[in-house]
Amino acid sequence: MNHKFRFNKESMDRIKRFMTGEEPPQTPEPPQEEEQPSQVEVVREGGLCAALLTDIGCVRVSNQDALVKGEMLFGVADGMGGHNGGETASAGARDGLVSLLEGKQPSVDALRTAFKAVNHRLYLQQQEDESLSGMGTTLSVVWLSENYVYIGHVGDSRVYLLRDGEFRQVTDDHSLVAELERLGQLTHEQALHHPMKNVITRAVGTEETIDTDLMVEERRKGDTWLICSDGLTGMVSDKSIEAIISANEVEKAAELLVEAARKGGGRDNISVALVREEEAAE
Ligand code: CA
Repeated sequence: MNHKFRFNKESMDRIKRFMTGEEPPQTPEPPQEEEQPSQVEVVREGGLCAALLTDIGCVRVSNQDALVKGEMLFGVADGMGGHNGGETASAGARDGLVSLLEGKQPSVDALRTAFKAVNHRLYLQQQEDESLSGMGTTLSVVWLSENYVYIGHVGDSRVYLLRDGEFRQVTDDHSLVAELERLGQLTHEQALHHPMKNVITRAVGTEETIDTDLMVEERRKGDTWLICSDGLTGMVSDKSIEAIISANEVEKAAELLVEAARKGGGRDNISVALVREEEAAE
């Protein structure tokens, strides 16, 4: 290879300054964005201990995830679309749901109505503001009464349950690849690595009406619920997630899950909400 070396203007200037003993002009360092370590929020109430943590990840310039925390209400929203759209959608879903459910007795109906109202609000907002056009968000939450856990879910964030040593995904992903997998047209392995795995088929705020998955489970001592965005599940296997949750207190587990997702590439925002039913104090 034939490398031709040419002095550009900058190197010529540098040589001139060297010859004349002149001090080089100070080029100011670009301000280093101080990376604040994400803080776990810990909640103890009603016989449970919860830990919530969201992290921007290693690649994205903003965090469009939002943690949902209300009265015995825990979850995540993962926003998408546009410049500010993603953040507006996830924050709007969080704030809307928390305020709509405040003071209410947990029930499937209350949850369905609130999801509907939140969807409608976001939908109108983007109809009115062109800059928000195309925005939407996932929304997955658990809401606990004295004896039951009510689950509301739209999108590809997930709810998992660790019970009696068995770890399982409670929600279905509303994503193209998951739908194809359920139809038997993709294997689980193919779905995991599919180039269109980010395409979601249901979101809050994108359509005038919404179809919310709603479930009820009994509350049991020792159960651990995990609600998380795909920034975790896209980077860390279910097996590793289970191992971390099984072996740690929720606060530590939340940190370790985020750390594992960052080590796995951290290509997306990472959000986790862990809710553990405390064993009865004997
Ligand atoms: Ca995401």
